Order: sequence, then C-alpha cells, then structure tokens
Amino acid sequence: MSMKRSLRDSLVFECLSVRSVRSALPATRSRLIKLIVLAIAFFSLTFLLPQFPIFPNSPSPSLPVSQSSPASPSPILPVSQSSPEAPPTPSLPIPQSPNFPSPKIHPLPPSLAQWQTKDDIGDYFAQIQTTDAGYLVWTKFPLKIYLEHPDSLNNSASNLRFQQWVTAIREAIDEWNNYLPLVEIDSPELADIIVTRSQVDRDIQLDPETGLYKIPRAITAQTTYEFYLSSDTPAVLRHRMKVQISPDIGKNATLATARHELGHAMGIWGHSDRKTDALYFSQVSDPPPISPRDLNTLKKIYQQPTRLGWEISS
Ligand SMILES: [Zn+2]
Repeated sequence: MSMKRSLRDSLVFECLSVRSVRSALPATRSRLIKLIVLAIAFFSLTFLLPQFPIFPNSPSPSLPVSQSSPASPSPILPVSQSSPEAPPTPSLPIPQSPNFPSPKIHPLPPSLAQWQTKDDIGDYFAQIQTTDAGYLVWTKFPLKIYLEHPDSLNNSASNLRFQQWVTAIREAIDEWNNYLPLVEIDSPELADIIVTRSQVDRDIQLDPETGLYKIPRAITAQTTYEFYLSSDTPAVLRHRMKVQISPDIGKNATLATARHELGHAMGIWGHSDRKTDALYFSQVSDPPPISPRDLNTLKKIYQQPTRLGWEISS
C-alpha cells in the first residue's frame, strides 16, 4: 500500500509524500498502525535540473548557479531565484476509527509560552499545512533526538568531516532548544527525531510526454514524519520525525540546513516567503537565524488543535 504525492518549488525541493508506514520502533515500544493508512510527508531541500518541470503554470524559474559539487569546501549556499511554492497537497486521511481522538488544543509548552508574539512583524502561519492528525505538535518534552555520529575517534579526514557535521547539527539543536526543549539520546529506537547523515534518494520520475526521466540533481536534506500508536495504556497517537542531511555540504550550509529542517521537525510544516526567516523556502547565501516570524509561526501552530498526544479510547 503505497502512494506518493509531490509538492515542489524551484530551488528548495518541496516534496510531500504519503505512503504506508514502515516500522522503525520495536514492537515492544509501540504498536504501529498497520492496518490503516499512515502518512509520511517530507520536505526536501534540493537543486533541480533545469529541465525538471517544477511548476508547469509558473513563470519558468531560472535556476541559480549552484555550488553543489560533492564535498564542496564552500560554506556559501547558492543564491536562488525561486518561483512561488506550489499549493499544498491534501494528505491522505488518517484511518477512520470510532475511537480516534478528536483534535484538541494542548497547553502551550512553557518555553514557547515565554515567547512574546511580535504582532507587528506577523507570521506565515497561513502557509502551514495540517495533516489528518491535525497540526504536527509535540506534546511530550523534552523531545528526544538521536544524532548520527562517528563510531570512532580517529583523526582521518572523513572522520573529521563527520565530526564537523555533528557539530553543526548540535548547534542547530541548541538554537531550537531555546523554544522547545530537546535532549540528545543515544538510542535511535527511543527517539522522537532521528537525524542521519545521508544522501536523500532522488525522486526520479518518468515524463509521460517526453518519455524521458526527470532526475533531480542533488537533494541536500529531507524531513519525514510518520504516525504511530504508543504502547501506553490507553494508547496515544504520536508521531516521529526523520531528518536526513547530506554529508556533502559545507559547515555553514549544514548549520543552515539543519536549522531549517529542524524547524519542520518542530512542527513548522510549511515555508516562509521571506529570506529573513530560517524557514524561507529557498536557500540563500547568507542564511538567517531563527527569526521572530519563525517563532510567531511556531507559537501559533502550538495553539492549534491536533489529534496527536491524545489518548485513543479503547
Ligand atoms: Zn523546507
């Protein structure tokens, strides 16, 4: 049972995919919803081949000169010229169950409640997509995050690059930790968020008109989510996130990418249209920190109803 949908913009590769869930947790920890359709959606950052038709209806986007050669030493992200983002694709329905919790609002996490919304600068909440579980709101803190790291401490060049990658990701974790508590753990099977250092599979598609394959050139990151039922009694509907970040981008780009992807993982399932926000939909040469608009948006998301974090009645 598998189904895919895509949502893309020109530079930042925005992709929503829905498919049946693959178990990542041991059966003893969670009972996955196997008989019902589960959604995995993912956001990706990528550079696309010029011939890749992203928005058939949009002005043809002129693609930037990218510095995307593998292991490029340059920390500068390419400047983009992006077309507007494609409209959100509706997600697959969460399986209907008479016992499914109805969407309700959770109390604001204290760390986020402290953020004083800056009304004068607004937010981009209108761009945030909801799922059939509602908004992707975390309810159990601190969030447990597992970060892939080198097994050995040797000083080989590849190991040092890996370590540099880890350092950049930890910096991004520290930044978000100011607003939603995060703790790094050693067990991926217990994590709410798993960050891996890996290449993202390219989403190769056959163009029915030309008979040619359309191949994205390089995808630098991707965040996906999936739902599961916790092993608590009664069970609680929860989600977990997986963030993949390429090993082949420079240190600053890794930090900017991790900041952006972790923003998705925090629940910002959408993009800003301003370059001054970390969740801007494209890559910029001078990546901004987490912005007040990012935080206004995040706080608003956590004031929305969700099915996540509520018990399933038996
Ligand atoms: Zn994104």
